[in-house]
Amino acid sequence: MKEPTLGNPQNTIAVLQKYNFTFQKKFGQNFLIDTHVLDKIIRAADIGPEDCVLEIGPGIGTMTQYLACAAGRVIAVEIDRALIPILEDTLEGYDNVRIINEDVLKLDLKALAEEENGGRPLKVVANLPYYITTPIIMGLFENHVPLESITVMVQKEVADRMQVGPGTKDYGALSLAVQYYAKPYIVANVPPNCFMPRPKVGSAVIRLDRYEKPPVEVKDEKLMFRIIRASFNQRRKTLVNGLKNSPELTFSKEEIESAIEKLGKGLNVRGESLTLEEFAFLSNKLCS
Ligand code: SAM
Repeated sequence: MKEPTLGNPQNTIAVLQKYNFTFQKKFGQNFLIDTHVLDKIIRAADIGPEDCVLEIGPGIGTMTQYLACAAGRVIAVEIDRALIPILEDTLEGYDNVRIINEDVLKLDLKALAEEENGGRPLKVVANLPYYITTPIIMGLFENHVPLESITVMVQKEVADRMQVGPGTKDYGALSLAVQYYAKPYIVANVPPNCFMPRPKVGSAVIRLDRYEKPPVEVKDEKLMFRIIRASFNQRRKTLVNGLKNSPELTFSKEEIESAIEKLGKGLNVRGESLTLEEFAFLSNKLCS
């Protein structure tokens, strides 16, 4: 396998100029130009020749080259048609890479995992387009795409939201959803000068290790997530009011109060102070 050639500003600029490429803001294009950060991501993702990696948004193929050297197979999904001839050029000789020109949110990733890896779990590695971080991650989890881990660059603030617990301003529906499906771990903070063009926000690499079995037992997952959404949609209201006012829930005030009382935190409790275990408990009470 060829050694990666990309990952520094000079070579990235040379590729962009060769193809007269113009960045598309609407696709969240901020390309990595730092080999140390790339090495860190590859190490954190813990990839070996037995792994099939799904890369979302390969850009000009910088991280793809590194992934191709470490993994058995790489599937790279890129929405921007203008990048496809560039990828065919920069990934020439990397025979274990398949490029798919598609919107990742429209792809059936479960079927792709079946086709490419016989249904065995994939490892997802990406410098994500920040404008769709949450739908990408939630889509991977909720659609039960077989995967072992997700190691991704995201906006720093979003990485924080994924790993915090109750009692902080960043705690919300994303924290609970991520922590229901996976164990989060922030690998590194990455400053804007590691990208071209520079993003306006700080970034972080986060690794999410998918649980084989969620850490709490929930009778009706969909109901628990409706309750979580309702609790955080009206952050300044009490949990009773949040659940009572939600168009997604149909419980009476009495049913809601009776379930919340069983939590033992009083009827004035707010959703933002509940742990995942407590949301599971509440959801199981309301379910029965
Ligand atoms: N991996 C490259 C790197 O690190 O240099 C590029 C990362 S850039 C932050 C995000 C990439 O995702 C861009 O190449 C962008 O065109 C692509 N992208 C944006 N929306 C997408 C979508 N819905 N489906 C697939 N790719 C998408």
